[in-house]
Parts: sequence; C-alpha cells; structure tokens
Amino acid sequence: MGDSYEQHVVLFPFMSKGHTIPLLHFARLLLLRHNTAVTVFTTPANHPFVAESLHGTTASIVVLPFPTVDGIESTDQLPSMSLFYKFATATATMQPHFEHALENEITIPRISFMVTDSFLWWTLQSATKFNVPRFAYYGMNCYSVCLCREAVFSGIFGGAQPDDELVTLTRFPWIKLCKNDFEAAFRNSDPKSDAYEFNTKVISAVGCSYGMLVNSFYELESVFVDHINEESCPKSWCVGPFCLPQHTPNVHLIPGEKPRWIEWLDEKLEEKESVVYVAFGSQAEISDEQFYEIAKGLEESMVNFLWVIRKAEWTLPDGFEERVEKRGIVVREWVDQREILMHESVEGFLSHCGWNSVLESICAGVPILAWPMMAEQHLNARMVDEEIKIGLRVETSDGSVRGFVKCEGLRKSVKELMEGEKGREGRKKVMKLADIAKNAVQEGGSSCSTLNLLFQEICTHH
Ligand code: UDP
Ligand code: UDP
Repeated sequence: MGDSYEQHVVLFPFMSKGHTIPLLHFARLLLLRHNTAVTVFTTPANHPFVAESLHGTTASIVVLPFPTVDGIESTDQLPSMSLFYKFATATATMQPHFEHALENEITIPRISFMVTDSFLWWTLQSATKFNVPRFAYYGMNCYSVCLCREAVFSGIFGGAQPDDELVTLTRFPWIKLCKNDFEAAFRNSDPKSDAYEFNTKVISAVGCSYGMLVNSFYELESVFVDHINEESCPKSWCVGPFCLPQHTPNVHLIPGEKPRWIEWLDEKLEEKESVVYVAFGSQAEISDEQFYEIAKGLEESMVNFLWVIRKAEWTLPDGFEERVEKRGIVVREWVDQREILMHESVEGFLSHCGWNSVLESICAGVPILAWPMMAEQHLNARMVDEEIKIGLRVETSDGSVRGFVKCEGLRKSVKELMEGEKGREGRKKVMKLADIAKNAVQEGGSSCSTLNLLFQEICTHH
C-alpha cells in the first residue's frame, strides 16, 4: 500500500449478500476519494465474491479463517435461518485473527476509522484496543431503528393487546404498528435465549461505537435521522444510497454479453409493454404452499413479469413456464438487480422489502408492491406504503401483516401496482425521490457533505 494515501478505511461486512453488497459499494465510493486507501476483511468462501466485486480497484482484501457453521460461511446458504444465532456467534472466533491482521498487515498508512457490521459486535473491542474509531454499519434505515427503539421503550411487546392490533406510537403519533411487525426473536425478552443475548451484545456495542453508518439519505427520512441524532448516541451518518455513485458490472457474467433476461426486457420495451419484477432477496424462506400461490397469482394476473427464484428447492407448478411463455420469464441465476430495476420496461417491483432492494427501487424510480417476510422488512413495508408512499402492500387472506397470500390477493395487488391508482401515485412519488437520491450523492448533496464531514471530524479528533 503506497505512502501517498492520507486516509485508510477498514471495512468488515457481515457474511450475507444483503450486508456485503452495500459495503462493497461503499468501498468503491470511498475509493473515488483519491487519497483514501481501503482494506476489506472477509472469509475464504466469501473471498471470490468480494474479489470479483472489487476487481479493478485498489482495495486490499484480507481473508480471515472462519471455522464455519456446518461448513457454511454465508447466512444466505444456511439451510434454515434458525441457525442464524449460532452462525453470528461463531464470527467472534475471528477476533484474534482480525487483531493480528490489524497489528501486522495494515499499519501503513494508519487506519483512520473502521466500518464493521453491527452483527460483528466484537470488532468494537478490537477497534478500542487499537484506538481506531468504529462505525457500526446498520443494515437498517433510521425509520426502522426509531420504530424498534420506540416499540421497546413504550413497552408494546409486554402489553396485553393481540399481536395484530394496531398501537399508536407516542413519539410518532402518525404511525400505527403492531407486535407482529417485529420478529419473534426480537420481541423475545428471555435473557437466556440466544436471540436476546445476541441482540443485547449488538445493541450495546453499537451504543459504544463512534457512529452508525446508514445506507440512506437525509431527505428520505429526515424526521427519523434528526430524532436519532437529537435523542441518542451514537450519531447516525446517512451517506447513501451506496448503490448510486458507481455502477459495478455484474461480475458473474461474461463481459459484453447481455444476459437473456435483459434481452427479454429489451423486447418488451420494443413492444411498449411494461413488466413487474418479482424477487424476494437472498434469504427469504417461502413454504411450498405459498410458492404455489405466487406462481398461480402471477399466471392469472395477466401482467408481464420477470421472476427471480433464488432457492433450488422451490418448484414451479407443472407446465407453468409454457403457459406464461412470452408474458413471463423465470430466472434462477444470480442477476444484477440494479440493472433490471433501471431497465425502462420495468414499472413495478414485487419485493420482500429488504432495505437494499427498497433503496435500489427508489434509485430506479420504480414503485413497490411490498411483501415483507423477515427481519425488519415489515417496518420497511410500512415505510413504503404509509410513510414515503411509494407503493402498496400485498393483500393477505386474513388482512394480518404476516398472513398467507392467496393467488386472488396477489393478482389484485399486482394489478393495482401496474394499472391502479395506488401504483400511479407511487410511481409519481418514487420518481421524485429518485432525483433527490441522485442529488444527495453528488458534490454539495446531503450524503456527499455528510461523508466529507465525517472525514473532517475524524481527522480533527484522531
Ligand atoms: N441481489 C442481486 N442479485 C440477485 C439477488 C440479490 O443483485 O440475484 C442483490 C440485491 O440487488 C440487493 C441484495 O442482493 O442488493 C439483497 O439485499 P436485500 O436487503 O434486498 O435483501 P436480503 O437478501 O438481505 O434479504
Ligand atoms: N431486528 C430484527 N427484527 C426486528 C427488529 C430488529 O431482527 O423486527 C434486529 C435488527 O436487525 C438489529 C437488532 O434486532 O440487529 C437490534 O435492533 P434495534 O434497532 O433495536 O437496535 P438499536 O437501534 O436499539 O441499537
């Protein structure tokens, strides 16, 4: 690493696609500052993905040994998310290797600060040992962070009301939510449970960190950014969307060759037909019965769709692909989701509302049909539908937030997104937000200025 760099930033993403991808975009964003060196930490099995994504950049990569959970090094390959806490806890075995590397391999130039995933709580101890400021990368937005905290403070989990009954939040009186908007593991207050122990470690390490790095932009959720920064520690720094400043090519495809689904989208553009993009991220678990209803709903909706299926075990009804031929395409490969969302044929996104997907949709100006499944996705779905109003929620058969979705409900919701009033309103709103997001990351924009401020503050105090 050359001496010409004035700054050196260490990044340590958590081992799942949804947590790694945004930090790799952030690495590229940092490298646009010519005086900044970047070192990314990862594990052996995740190394190829990280290396390919950072190909052509000056980023250094350090690979740490990881004893794995049943031979698995990424949560999106776990056979069940019930192994999540076992996996997350095992990451702490990397601590001595991490510290050894910090000490020996990457001392020149001195590390200015590190950004490590909030799930890697133990990296705070390493940062403290080496007197390096730690920013916790939160996979969530400020809206969801505020709602989680308010729910805990206001004691709604302990209250007697049924799981689906709406409660008004005192601090945000325009927001109503229910217990079922939160994962059971998050609501678990048994101090002996894995979830409680893990969440407590994560939350207290975030609380003692220098700051939270948030993949969001101020204008999108100013009330919630201000709320965090006025009422609690540490400060949140919104410097996103990370996916915007530089478009990284899809490393899994042969350069110059258009993937078949992009060619298919090109054809739809010529025919002036719009397409709904259907994808549920890299982690979602969907039952066979639910999967069948999705297929049937898409078939009966008569809209054009591009459906990305991530899990090998999800099987389509017999003859599905022949029956929807021309109108629908099913993809089982890894896709460049941003390329799809940016395609002019795509006019709607049926999404599980992982935060990266929501942001990518906002940047592409595409309205969302929200179908949250796990983690804080239910809060993101409320944000999409009720707070920033860039779409609607899928209709569940019993009207509850975690209810089963029948094919009729899906068909109706998809139609509303693509042809109805809510879809139209959402599209108008999201296109405005896309422009605001683009401005935020440009010179003088809120995210760009916040990142400059962050560097200034670190340089002055460290
Ligand atoms: N992604 C992708 N291609 C795929 C599947 C996912 O590029 O075939 C990307 C997607 O663009 C997003 C990330 O993987 O950046 C998924 O993150 P998100 O927060 O949306 O959901 P998660 O996978 O964490 O549930
Ligand atoms: N979390 C979750 N499901 C939820 C809400 C939160 O898995 O419904 C996770 C979240 O990803 C985070 C942790 O619980 O890692 C703590 O979230 P919280 O926002 O309460 O932390 P704080 O902001 O108080 O530090």
